[in-house]
Amino acid sequence: MSVTKTPSIVIAGGGSAGWMAAAALSRFLGNAGKITLIESEAIGTVGVGEATIPQIHHFNNALGIPEAEFLEQTNATFKLGIEFVGWRDAGHSYFHGFGLLGRAVGILPFRDLWLKGRFDGSAEELGIYNFNDVAARAGRMIGLGHSPSSVRDLVYAYHFDATLYAAFLRRMAEGRGVVRMDAMIEAVERDEESGDITALRLDGDRRVEGDFFIDCTGFRSLLLGGALGVPFEDWSRWLPCNRALAVPCERVDPLHPYTRSTARSAGWQWRIPLQHRTGNGHVYCADFISDDEAAATLLANLDGKAQADPRPIRFTTGRRAQAWSHNCLALGLAAGFMEPLESTSLHLIQTAVSRFLKLIPSSNREHRVRDTFNRQVATEWEQIRDFLVLHYTVNQRTGEPFWDYCRNMELPDTLAAKIGMFEESGAVLKDEGELFTEEGWTQVMVGQGIEPQSYSALARGIDEGELRQFLSSLAEAYRQRAQALPTHAQWIDHVMKGKAA
Ligand SMILES: Cc1cc2nc3c(=O)[nH]c(=O)nc-3n(C[C@H](O)[C@H](O)[C@H](O)COP(=O)(O)OP(=O)(O)OC[C@H]3O[C@@H](n4cnc5c(N)ncnc54)[C@H](O)[C@@H]3O)c2cc1C
Repeated sequence: MSVTKTPSIVIAGGGSAGWMAAAALSRFLGNAGKITLIESEAIGTVGVGEATIPQIHHFNNALGIPEAEFLEQTNATFKLGIEFVGWRDAGHSYFHGFGLLGRAVGILPFRDLWLKGRFDGSAEELGIYNFNDVAARAGRMIGLGHSPSSVRDLVYAYHFDATLYAAFLRRMAEGRGVVRMDAMIEAVERDEESGDITALRLDGDRRVEGDFFIDCTGFRSLLLGGALGVPFEDWSRWLPCNRALAVPCERVDPLHPYTRSTARSAGWQWRIPLQHRTGNGHVYCADFISDDEAAATLLANLDGKAQADPRPIRFTTGRRAQAWSHNCLALGLAAGFMEPLESTSLHLIQTAVSRFLKLIPSSNREHRVRDTFNRQVATEWEQIRDFLVLHYTVNQRTGEPFWDYCRNMELPDTLAAKIGMFEESGAVLKDEGELFTEEGWTQVMVGQGIEPQSYSALARGIDEGELRQFLSSLAEAYRQRAQALPTHAQWIDHVMKGKAA
């Protein structure tokens, strides 16, 4: 690529990854780039990927998408967090809510106050001090900036229909000049000397040349994995699930403002409520359960009537060793896959696109840019991987072979250190630039059943009676304030009718 000409960018694949890239690049490159997207309707998309995390707001805001239009076009609902049912042991549940836990006092995070309260016997379960958790369980919702002044804002993400989302982004990208071709990519041409990709050969004797290629071809990874041969790092020793079955069912009321993840004998089941239907899926490890049993478990545990047969998806957890090689960047499933336990895949597409936009190459020889990008992406993926593994490895589901394996597997050192630190001292320190917050780590570590042996020395001097009063009035305030909010369905209606926000 040369600085003197407008770069032509070819996006291979039109799932969520392809259209997220096309929408963002066309928005920010404007007339400075020519963008072509190639997708094959004969192949289709993976069609799942419906739960997000709050960072999705950055993406939507950057693209200038009004919330009301987004809800309307993608049948979206609000998401305040994830309820984990049966992960510690059967019968137990906890919530990973977005946003803050309780209220810090001075430099003391709420976690330390709560831990002292646990030792003293004055603190109840952690969830009642997380406003997102309390509102979610009460089925309530209100948008940013709309809370009565005495109510803390809820921090939220969305659930949406993945196919409608890709279609929505497509309209936006095509409106900004992206050229779409429905074609089958049959071969990838490379420059003999540099190894860079020069063109994609398509069916019907067509050929598309480009300066830079974005591989969004899903699990196939046609360009990065296939043509460029970038190896796949297999993480299934830590995240052994390798199959999923997805099935929509009828919408049921009340409309829950959260994702539910229910542990099953060899994996887990998701429930994602949308306006027009509920998305469901069973993620499992085929070494521990047959496909038929997995399907039966899924169908037996739907809230409403199934609207289709379960659709099978196979995967291996892990990532391509480099997301960017030569003049090709992979996004989405072409770059790797981690199961949707914390809804991180679309987020990883988003951060890769925004990082790419910041570093967009002015020449194909910019190894430093590429190396920096790859280093940052690798760290980001490994940090998320550790957080996902935490959910599995700390469990008390003894006697179930899948869960016994997870409890006894050798952990990445980085995760073992985090768990050990919390067990010993109740301390949580998130790594530099890490996605998941200390609140998130705390909720999952406590939820999975880790009981710290100690807590911060700074909390020791706090008066027991005062702490008891502080904790109980905080919980009561959250409870009352949540009850005063609109229901989730009312708030969706309000935003869509009033076109608020
Ligand atoms: C079971 C499951 C559940 C998930 N749940 C979530 C979730 O809740 N939240 C979340 O953030 N993420 C989730 N994900 C991940 C999310 O679905 C993906 O990250 C996202 O959909 C991006 O997919 P993609 O665009 O990379 O691939 P795909 O959707 O598979 O798109 C691939 C594209 O490449 C095209 N293509 C492939 N080969 C060719 C060819 N030869 N010629 C032309 N075109 C070709 C296809 O036509 C298609 O357009 C989930 C994934 C799975 C498997």
